Amino acid sequence: MKYLIISTVGFLFLFISSSYAQENKSTSDIEQKVDALLSEMTLEEKIGQLNLPSAGDVSTGISTNTGIAKSIKEGKVGGLFNINGIDKIRAVQKIAVEESRLGIPLIIAKDVIHGYKTIFPIPLGLSASWDMDLIQQSARIAAEEASADGIAWTFSPMTDISRDPRWGRVSEGSGEDPYLGSQIAAAMVRGYQGNDLSAENTLLACVKHFALYGASEAGRDYNTVDMSRLRMYNDYFPPYKAAVDAGVGTVMASFNEVDGIPATGNKWLMTHVLREEWGFDGFVVSDYTGVSEMIAHGMGDLQSVSAMALKAGVEMDMVSEGFLSTLKKSVDEGKVSEEIITNACRLILKAKFQLGLFDDPYKYMDEERAAKVIFSDENRAIARKIASESMVLLKNEEEVLPIQKDAKIALIGPLANNKENMVGTWSVSADIMKSISIFDGMKEVSANPDNIQYAKGSNLVEDPALEERISIFGKNTYRDARSESEMINEAVQIAINSDIIVAILGEASESSGESSSLTDISIPDNQVRLLKALKETGKKVIVVLLSGRPLVLNEILPHSDAILNAWFPGSEAGLALADVLYGDVNPSGKLTMTYPQNVGQIPIYYSHKNTGRPLEGDWFEKFKSNYLDVSNKPEFPFGYGLSYSQFEYGEIQLSSSDLKSQDKLKVSISVKNKSDRDGKEVVQLYIRDIVGSTTRPVKELKAFEKVLIKAGETKEVTFEITTDNLKYYTYNNLVDQDIVHIWEPGEFEIMVGTNSSDLQSKTVNWGK
Ligand code: BGC
Repeated sequence: MKYLIISTVGFLFLFISSSYAQENKSTSDIEQKVDALLSEMTLEEKIGQLNLPSAGDVSTGISTNTGIAKSIKEGKVGGLFNINGIDKIRAVQKIAVEESRLGIPLIIAKDVIHGYKTIFPIPLGLSASWDMDLIQQSARIAAEEASADGIAWTFSPMTDISRDPRWGRVSEGSGEDPYLGSQIAAAMVRGYQGNDLSAENTLLACVKHFALYGASEAGRDYNTVDMSRLRMYNDYFPPYKAAVDAGVGTVMASFNEVDGIPATGNKWLMTHVLREEWGFDGFVVSDYTGVSEMIAHGMGDLQSVSAMALKAGVEMDMVSEGFLSTLKKSVDEGKVSEEIITNACRLILKAKFQLGLFDDPYKYMDEERAAKVIFSDENRAIARKIASESMVLLKNEEEVLPIQKDAKIALIGPLANNKENMVGTWSVSADIMKSISIFDGMKEVSANPDNIQYAKGSNLVEDPALEERISIFGKNTYRDARSESEMINEAVQIAINSDIIVAILGEASESSGESSSLTDISIPDNQVRLLKALKETGKKVIVVLLSGRPLVLNEILPHSDAILNAWFPGSEAGLALADVLYGDVNPSGKLTMTYPQNVGQIPIYYSHKNTGRPLEGDWFEKFKSNYLDVSNKPEFPFGYGLSYSQFEYGEIQLSSSDLKSQDKLKVSISVKNKSDRDGKEVVQLYIRDIVGSTTRPVKELKAFEKVLIKAGETKEVTFEITTDNLKYYTYNNLVDQDIVHIWEPGEFEIMVGTNSSDLQSKTVNWGK
């Protein structure tokens, strides 16, 4: 009997591998192969393909899985994630193809979020580069590296719009704006997937977290979301849709509820919007225990929620094992049809064929290529460049920056000499001790390493329990046992003997990211006290912020001469930062989230509606929409960022102010670099639709261009606008409220400038 089973397995494996070996990957060809394989499969084997357990090498959730090898052998595993290293991956793949009855290869996944081993800035930082080529390149390099090291599928890009910096996961996304977020989503998908999913160096991408995860109430992670459909379509859906339009292979369901139904079980979302409206034809995976979490949401027991998720349109169950343990029973009881399971399995097999896993299940395990590409000098050089392009100069009084290379610098700050925290959150594959600390980077780029004197100055936060919570995943912050005054005195001594002070302030890597929400996003008091003491020396103080979110900066603004936001720059942190501080790179990043004056202004974003009582004059006005204690203005607006160059905008020119429906509008502006230093400027175009059938934001980003302008040079930037740029989601009629994507003739304000608050405008009449 045993012999018989082994020979059957052997035969089936041979049959599958040989018959699928020379496939060409045309869709119908793949479909035929999927159908042939499906006809061989039992119901249990089909259900097994829908199961995605975690191998437990990386901790991202609560439960862990045991007995993986046995489950793979029994055909109960479709894919595996959180498994590290080619040897282990090869071993599990071998079990799948040689020891399971049908020899179906596993799809191996990992969170490759902003780099694999070569780590780029956190995604919020990447977005601040406004450079789609560089962002795409970062995803390309991540795919090159991960795909050589056993990985076939990444859980990225994360495209959740968020307007609440208390939410720790803003660090993983591209900020508050749907247009910019959409461009970035598409660039990331192109970078990961390339033109050919079956290539050995591309990854299957996964847009997440569908949908609205960034709108969790009060910025508390996993919290309830409640939103109008118009806001969903206009503000939160576009980046997910852009990823789908760019051909993303998979979608991850979010943890939150959408209009009263958890996304994981929300058929309107997963089937109507995603598949019927957007034409998505890949597969949907739940988030980590997203299926079983529907029990706590109040949707029923594991069997009911598993059936609900599957019927909604979720094909793969990450970690819950609800599909694995209950779907057969649901079929037996007539609660779920076998057909829906077959269809779900079909989509997963299709992805495996598209990746070429049936041709060569070991294709992503390439030690030679891994040794060549992973953390290569070339990749690190690009990471250094991208990191420097992501930094945002918030303040630079009296042009205190850049610093002379021979200046004596007092480098002060809790993370100024730390490697572990340079990479930022969600860098699970990084060798964090290989990152370049700020101290090391500064010494290397300075004219003389002895110019840089370092002191820690303060702990990151006063409360040791809080510091422990943010020193996880090996990202030690090395709490200092000395008293606050001892640490400050040491720093001040060094400062007195220096020409200039560089204070590295802000957060730890793990102060943001998953399950890292904060109610207070200001600079911790002990850091502020350090800064004040440094400023009292009379030396110029440059503050460099490490942060995974917009921070409240009002306490530090008066005590700093310059502020540079470096985010978490990645593996090459210290070098990239030194490049900017010393002026080898002229900063060109611009904020992609609004910086509030205080936490009470949140949610705050530039594309807000006008209200019936807008504040038009100066703050404060009674019975207008404003606060008693603080103006409506942000500390720093969306799109803001300075340069070492000074740019002067000419007057906005329009090709016409009266357009017919089919016309195109050309909007031009000249930008002069008045300085003696080459620099890059992100020229931004916003539009306001003055009258709509439903209310419209005061402005919306519709185009931008990042231009290099040489010292003394003037460049003309021209945007071409069509009525496509005027489209928005509104109701087809105000009673049925079906949603349509249209533009409505009328007056439009066209605005161009250097950030969302500093714009010139002209009005056009379009289509009337
Ligand atoms: C996160 C996802 C991630 C998944 C797998 C979850 O906790 O929400 O973003 O992809 O874990 O690690």
